[in-house]
Amino acid sequence: MSEVRKIAVLPGDGIGPEVMPVAVAALRTALQRQGVYLETEEGLIGGCAIDAAGGPLPAETQELCAAADAVLLGAVGGPKWEALPMQQRPEKGLLGLRSGLQLFANLRPALLFAPLADASSLKPALVSGLDILIVRELTGGIYFGEPRGVFLENNERVGVNTYRYSEHEIERIARVAFDLAGKRRRRLCSVDKANVLEATDLWRQVVSGLASEYPEVALSHMYVDNAGMQLVRAPKQFDVIVTGNMFGDILSDVAAMLTGSLGMLPSASLAADGFGLYEPVHGSAPDIAGQDRANPLATVLSAAMLCRYSLNLPGAAAALEGAVDAVLRQGLRTADIAAEGQGVELVGTQAMGEALLAALESSAGGEAP
Ligand code: NAD
Repeated sequence: MSEVRKIAVLPGDGIGPEVMPVAVAALRTALQRQGVYLETEEGLIGGCAIDAAGGPLPAETQELCAAADAVLLGAVGGPKWEALPMQQRPEKGLLGLRSGLQLFANLRPALLFAPLADASSLKPALVSGLDILIVRELTGGIYFGEPRGVFLENNERVGVNTYRYSEHEIERIARVAFDLAGKRRRRLCSVDKANVLEATDLWRQVVSGLASEYPEVALSHMYVDNAGMQLVRAPKQFDVIVTGNMFGDILSDVAAMLTGSLGMLPSASLAADGFGLYEPVHGSAPDIAGQDRANPLATVLSAAMLCRYSLNLPGAAAALEGAVDAVLRQGLRTADIAAEGQGVELVGTQAMGEALLAALESSAGGEAP
């Protein structure tokens, strides 16, 4: 009997239920090639959970995720639920799941597949071969620090948020980043604003203090304003970037655009024990939902990250990434990545899925780009 891995599958709303079957089928095939049997169980999250169970994150979904080896999620939200009060919205389901599972490390790769070099807003020479990993702290910093709010002071309103990190929070995200850099090109750039913000000066001190434990990794530091500039000036200078919640939020979106399309961007959110939630960066795309137009590749690449980081099956991850590269090299494009006049073949979600399976099943689909 082969090894079994259990994945909680949460398709969610909009295009989520369209891209998820493609990703699950590809994941199943990639794992089979490694002698691993994939067991999946579906759960509700977001708008569909509100409709069926009265809230965006039913207890059964939380139990299902806690009992799985990892979670693969599509997207949540849509116009149908936008009028609901903030606390009852679909997005609260996702936030609740992230905090409930203590997913403090957000990994956002910016990897440019060679056939898509023209899709970037930068010149192909600047981005071809781009492979950056941004490690963003996800559960602390200014998005969560207290005190926060809008207060009355001397007869006027004052808005307050607090940039706050404790040493242990900095240390645990830095260790994730050092470990990842050690498995890649062994360069880690820590991004802060230590010249202005004391909290980020502490960040710099704590990260620097760990460097001697990772002698194989070359650590550098950069102020966030310069990092933004360098990402668009010469992005290939970076390997792994580690930073706090707010700076990571902004820089990961900048890095994302270097690769061209939302439909290509995966992400992982990890807990201390390696447990992870994997999801495409894009939302539920209500404007194209139900039309077989969604690009499933971001979800497939999220499944590849799941293999690499939670299942410790780098061969399956490479097979999935290789299959994505193969279908792009065949010229297949969903509408979001089909630049005009390029002699490419426009395909829908399902046809892209079939091509991926064919690439995975042929020996050509075995190598990463
Ligand atoms: P979106 O990412 O859903 O869509 C932005 C644009 O990109 C749209 O034109 C859409 O058609 C296109 N797009 C996105 N993914 C695509 C794909 N895979 N293939 C082809 N085209 C794709 O962002 P939005 O329109 O701002 O938000 C729509 C809904 O999604 C909202 O309810 C929002 O709250 C929610 N949302 C959810 C998540 C999540 O689940 N993590 C993230 C962002 C937004």
